Amino acid sequence: MQQTSEQLRTSGKRIGFVPTMGALHDGHLSLLHTACQHSDVTVMSIFVNPAQFAPHEDFNTYPRMFEKDAAVAREQGCDILFYPKEDVLYPQGYKTFVTVEDLSSAFEGAVRPSHFRGVTTIVCKFFNIVAPHIAVFGQKDVQQVIIIRKMVHDLHFPVRIVVAPTVREHDGLAMSSRNVYLTEKERNDAPLMYQGLLKAQKEYEAGQRSTQKLIQSIETFYAQSDILEPEYISVVDSKSFETVKTITATALIVVVCRTKESRTRLLDNVVVGGAL
Ligand code: AMP
Repeated sequence: MQQTSEQLRTSGKRIGFVPTMGALHDGHLSLLHTACQHSDVTVMSIFVNPAQFAPHEDFNTYPRMFEKDAAVAREQGCDILFYPKEDVLYPQGYKTFVTVEDLSSAFEGAVRPSHFRGVTTIVCKFFNIVAPHIAVFGQKDVQQVIIIRKMVHDLHFPVRIVVAPTVREHDGLAMSSRNVYLTEKERNDAPLMYQGLLKAQKEYEAGQRSTQKLIQSIETFYAQSDILEPEYISVVDSKSFETVKTITATALIVVVCRTKESRTRLLDNVVVGGAL
């Protein structure tokens, strides 16, 4: 992959990169389409990264369907599919990790302490291997986007980070490879997550700037479901990811709910007062 990228760069090609863990859905494909628009050659990686899973998490059961993914990726404009082996990326004796401090220990990082360390490490490795000019990430995992932007800035990676909007099912549920874990009852209630966010977004547009009020409104809305358990509902600054009391700049309303039956964690967010 490194040799291929070097040849592409030498011949003046712009490389666009989309990292994924596979089990591709339309969200991943929209990132691929965005990468195609910004580059001459698109590289998609499929790698279920062990470093971003805690021992009790779903690394072993995470859906893997390489043949199907490969066919879809090719059909949708992926030029190079990078599918590395685990023992090549993390051979025995592997010791080096990259951490973006503070940002990685709040919100998702508070619930999953080593998660972002695993994400920034693998993205850093991929940037060194694929040497992309641009890399596309999804807004659905917005804390990840903010952390990667910070890493790119702090470590001077010559890579432009492009954020693609969240792709949703027809009823508003954000697409996720983990949605397959949902029971029927959970799947029925899951769209409430986005509806609650849209309600708060409308209240913001009507002039509400108090984050306490917006959060209360979402909490009340979610209380209609006996199967969605909010883990956190917060309003954060879109750059620092720090909580804000009154919205005065572009902010993100971020929610995570855990479902009662399958214990799946569902993430979603909307932007208010600007763009990401
Ligand atoms: P994953 O395979 O879950 O690690 O995700 C790979 C990339 O796809 C990440 O940048 C995610 O943010 C992005 N992604 C996942 N789901 C969606 C979605 N519904 N809409 C847009 N991007 C997504």
